[in-house]
Amino acid sequence: MKEVVVIGAGASGLAAIRSLLKYKDKVNITAYEVSDRVGGLWVNRDPYKTSPMYDGLQTNSYKAVCGFADSLGVEVKESYVYHSQYLQYIEDYSKKFNMHQYIQFRHRVLEVDPYKTENERERWCVTARNETNGVVRTQQFDAVVVCNGHHEKPHIPDVKGMKTYTGETMHSIYYQSPEYFKGKTVLIVGGKVSGLDILFHMKSAPKKIYFSHHNPLIASPLPDNTEHVTDISEISGDDIILNDGRVIQADIILFATGYEYYFPFLSDRCRPTVKDGHVTNIYRMMVDIDHPSLYYIGLNTVVVALYQLSFQAELAAAFISEKIPPVSKEEMKNEYDDWYKRHVTDLGKRPKDYHIMPSSQHEYAAILAKESLSDFPVTSLPQQFILKVMEMSSANYEHWRSTIYKILSNDSYETVYEHPVYSSVGNKENLTQTAIS
Ligand SMILES: Cc1cc2nc3c(=O)[nH]c(=O)nc-3n(C[C@H](O)[C@H](O)[C@H](O)COP(=O)(O)OP(=O)(O)OC[C@H]3O[C@@H](n4cnc5c(N)ncnc54)[C@H](O)[C@@H]3O)c2cc1C
Repeated sequence: MKEVVVIGAGASGLAAIRSLLKYKDKVNITAYEVSDRVGGLWVNRDPYKTSPMYDGLQTNSYKAVCGFADSLGVEVKESYVYHSQYLQYIEDYSKKFNMHQYIQFRHRVLEVDPYKTENERERWCVTARNETNGVVRTQQFDAVVVCNGHHEKPHIPDVKGMKTYTGETMHSIYYQSPEYFKGKTVLIVGGKVSGLDILFHMKSAPKKIYFSHHNPLIASPLPDNTEHVTDISEISGDDIILNDGRVIQADIILFATGYEYYFPFLSDRCRPTVKDGHVTNIYRMMVDIDHPSLYYIGLNTVVVALYQLSFQAELAAAFISEKIPPVSKEEMKNEYDDWYKRHVTDLGKRPKDYHIMPSSQHEYAAILAKESLSDFPVTSLPQQFILKVMEMSSANYEHWRSTIYKILSNDSYETVYEHPVYSSVGNKENLTQTAIS
């Protein structure tokens, strides 16, 4: 039997357990989770960790495609699922496969460190702390599946003079509800989905919202109290100096500027190099090339997450259980270089776009499904819907979630209802590049 540890019991960790359970006769599963429940960031106001979830958030993936690959639809009345409904769906999925019995809740993994056995096989020492009684224990494993998410360490841009700022600053991870912003002047920094979603969520509470970003493709009308402004150039006391020379003041600067990949528990001997905003040297965006028994689930963004990470879990489980043979280091390196070249360099994208994959998620999932010999159904609908969301939300952010679709087949759908504002929108083709993340 192989001993496998899964770190985290959010959607990625559950997908990993689900796929590993297919090989129950070959693997023993131990999962550790900081919180006292499954669901990861979908647990709103979790007392045991900071979650970017906020009151009333709705998904940005359509309900028919936002579930795990073997249970794709989430049955709710609304087109886009509320966070509490999504958490319920994730909990139900966990219960359906009796996953709780493998999870040690209120346990934090402190360290993961590789060692070599006498016959030169790599194994892992994993140290975890019971957060309830403080007991620390180290165990040995044959494989490690890292599912700790990537919404834990906020990224805040290095703004000149920030230390002198006399107002309040906040990262979107701490945003919870509009009430706190009532009557205030707020500067939201960041023009991707978090910035836009929070802007529309808080819209009528602040006296004034400045929206600073460099996303030229947001054509959507903004609330009446909101004004687009350029990037911040410098801060001096209570003055916020913008790139175009204008000076504004705000009570709060809210940074919706994303997160950094963060693996504090991986020792120096196995921590991956995160360079230019992406995790390097990984096969299929999930297998550490230098440590092939170390897997990452859920690193990619701007994807329909649960569908995609189901297939990542399938591949990890197929390798761990030896259902499929290992891939040589050279082959893995070639695949990493080739994907990077085709999807980043050749398209003139930034290195950090390696993990941002709205247009390539179908190709990617299909590759993983084939390689892992998965029996989960593959469909292009998740990719089609995310591109559709990008188009519609760029054109009008207020109304895109009211659209109703009908699924016609594994690869096609039709629009049953869309808000009348969309009929007056011009060439939607130009709008499809707004990044959702
Ligand atoms: C605001 C927001 C909205 C989103 N909306 C959508 C959407 O609409 N559709 C979509 O497809 N995706 C969406 N996403 C993407 C989201 O990341 C995925 O849906 C998915 O939930 C990620 O799951 P995860 O398990 O990888 O990470 P998480 O949900 O972050 O779970 C990680 C888990 O690991 C645990 N953990 C961390 N460190 C340790 C440790 N050292 N020891 C033990 N446990 C640990 C944490 O406690 C946590 O439970 C959204 C993300 C955000 C931030």
